[in-house]
This record gives sequence, structure tokens and C-alpha cells, in this order.
Amino acid sequence: MSALYGTYARSPLAFERGEGVRLISQDGTRYLDFHAGIAVNALGHSDPHLVKTMKEAAEKVWHVSNVFTIPEGERLAQRLCDATFADSVFFTNSGAEAIECAIKTARHYFWARGEKDRYEIIAFTGSFHGRTLATIAAAGNPSYTEGFGPPLEGFVHLKPGDLKAVEAAITAKTCAILIEPVQGEGGVTAMSAEYMRGLRALCDKHGMLLILDEVQCGYGRTGKFFAHEWAGIEPDIMAVAKGIGGGFPLGACLAKGEVAKSMVPGTHGSTYGGNPLACTIGNAVLDRIMEPGFIEHVDKMGQLLAWHLQQLQQRYPQYVVELRGKGLLAGIKLTDAVVAREFVARLRDDHQMLTQGAGDNVLRLLPPLIVTEPDIEEAVDKLGAAFAALDAETAKEHVTA
Ligand SMILES: *Cc1c(COP(=O)(O)O)cnc(C)c1O
Repeated sequence: MSALYGTYARSPLAFERGEGVRLISQDGTRYLDFHAGIAVNALGHSDPHLVKTMKEAAEKVWHVSNVFTIPEGERLAQRLCDATFADSVFFTNSGAEAIECAIKTARHYFWARGEKDRYEIIAFTGSFHGRTLATIAAAGNPSYTEGFGPPLEGFVHLKPGDLKAVEAAITAKTCAILIEPVQGEGGVTAMSAEYMRGLRALCDKHGMLLILDEVQCGYGRTGKFFAHEWAGIEPDIMAVAKGIGGGFPLGACLAKGEVAKSMVPGTHGSTYGGNPLACTIGNAVLDRIMEPGFIEHVDKMGQLLAWHLQQLQQRYPQYVVELRGKGLLAGIKLTDAVVAREFVARLRDDHQMLTQGAGDNVLRLLPPLIVTEPDIEEAVDKLGAAFAALDAETAKEHVTA
């Protein structure tokens, strides 16, 4: 019996080492990692620059409180602002905390302007924003909110994709729109560029803020530094996490200067958020992501993966309904003939490949961003072998039946 909370349906598989896109289990079996700790290990495992940075950082100051100046945090924040729409950053330890900061920032911006009743946020079904009480209320997924008391007030939920419905839902209370440009957990649904531009235009028209949750789709994963760049728009506030720490717990809420201005001393805080160790690692991850050609490589690999998945879809229409996602956040919606969760287990146990399920019976592929063409070909071979094995089993059942 495990002494841990039973909140996860864990596999007994445990890993000892990692090398790039490979994870090596305690018994020495090598796995192809198309899971990357759910989009966290952007640089794969044991990236030499990260390892060296961590070793050097271990001998320096790990933690000081945010009551002192933290040069590594100042530097990381400035670099993030230089590379994005933002002028101000708040560091957190997780994605949920980055969203919490985003929600507080939006509400407080209007409060400080004297619009005290303007706190409502339009959010979307199929989204995921984390597991804290505010973030489960923000996503509004009943399977996450049920049983935990009254959900935090102030969120309205719509189906994504319909701009008219969004405009109709705007009231004097609405302060912001919150959306994932590519929904990760909900089923790997990429919003169209027109839809994202339409949301931006509605925010501008009604004086509202656009909050993007790029915790999963950001940091290079879609083939741009941030996914909203595909639509040529900018948010007012953005939550970032997962890939930003490359495996070290780090998150960030980025905002335009005007929007962040009301977040004065006393309005928000975090003991660990943005400590020297976390920001040193964050800077090292960014060094790699900002290397010339890094994000172009992601884009290229994303297109290659999409092409191979199309071939696979043509070979196995009995299992593949459609292909979803963007770049290296790819989804395969499976037919009723396969359960995504079970297929994940098959790939893991029979083909030594790690993947993740998502909502709507979708198989999610999230390789480290350093994945290469041979890795992608190997992954597609494994997927093909798994579908072929399913075919063989179905044929056998027919014979015995
Ligand atoms: C993972 C995720 C979160 C929550 O991040 P945690 O670090 O688990 O708190 C929020 N939003 C999106 C889109 C995510 O994928």
C-alpha cells in the first residue's frame, strides 16, 4: 500500500534515468518519451546545459525571500518581457498559481479603477486551468468541481468557437476572457486564428482583458514561442508554466504594464515563487529555447509529425477519427473501438512508448521539443505496430466467435 494520496491512477513503472527523449526504468528498459512529464521536459532529460547550471547553482543561494532583490528573477523577467507582449512578470511554482495570479490581476485592475463590480470572466468548456479552488471554478468542468463546496463565483462558461455567443454573454460585470489557445487536457483542440483574433477584437471593443492560458501550449511547443503568435495577436495577461522550468517547478504570470500596475505591495505573494534556484534554471531553459533555430526546429518537427500521423490515419481509419492540435502538442481522436487510456497503457507496456490521454478519447503526443526526425519515425512505427496489434486481436476474436 502506498502512503501517498490515491489521487492518481499510477502505473507501477518507475524511472531511474533519462537521456534526451529516452527514459530508462529501474529494470533498465528504455522508453521513448512522447509524454515529457505532460509538456514539462521541453529539453528532454539530462540536458547538459541544465545539468551544469543546476550543479553550479547548488553551491550558491537556493532561496531567499521575495523581500530581497533576486537578480536571477530580475533577469528572467526582463528576458521574458523582451521576447513577448509583457512588461511585468510574477513568478509562481505551478501553472494553477500562474492562473490564480492572472485572475487576481484582471479583477484588481478594474477594482483599482473604481469598477468594483466588474469581476466576471468568460471561460470555456473543455478547458483546464489547474486544480486549485479558483482554477477548477474557472474551467467549470463538473467532474473537477463536484464535491468541493460552492465553486468560486464569477465565471461564465461557453462552448469555444462561437464569437456571437461570446459577445452575447458580455455584461457590465465582464472583465476578461480566459482561454487556452490550444486546449490540452480537454482534448487537444486548437482554436482557429480567426477565433483568437475575434476574441481580441471583442476585448478591445468592450474594454476587457484577454487572458491566455499558455501553460501547456506555450514555450515553443506549437512551433512559435507562444501559441497566440499564430493568430498575430497579443493578450493582456498570460499564464505560463510547464516547459518554462524544464522540470523544475516554475510558473509565471505575464502582463502588460498598465494591467499589472495595480498589483502593489500586499496584493499578492508567494514564498517560493521565483526564488534564485528556480530562476537560475528558468534562465538556463530560456538560453536553450532562444538558441537560433530552436523554435524553427519545433515547427519543422511538428509538421513532420502531422504528416506521419496523416499517413497513419489513412492506414487505420477504423481507429483514428481525426488529428488535432498544433506543433508538438498533437492529438489523435480515437474511434469507439479503442479507449485512449487503454491505448496509452498498450503503448507503454507493449511498445515502450510513453504518451498521455486527454478528454474526448484523445491520445496526446507531447515529445520533448528536442525530438528528432528518427525519433518521430520510431514513434510512428510504434503507433502503427500498436494499431496493427489491435487489428490482429480483432481478427482473432472474429475467428473464435
Ligand atoms: C497543466 C496545466 C495547468 C495547471 O498547471 P499545474 O502546474 O498543474 O498547476 C493549467 N493550465 C493548463 C492549460 C495546463 O495544461
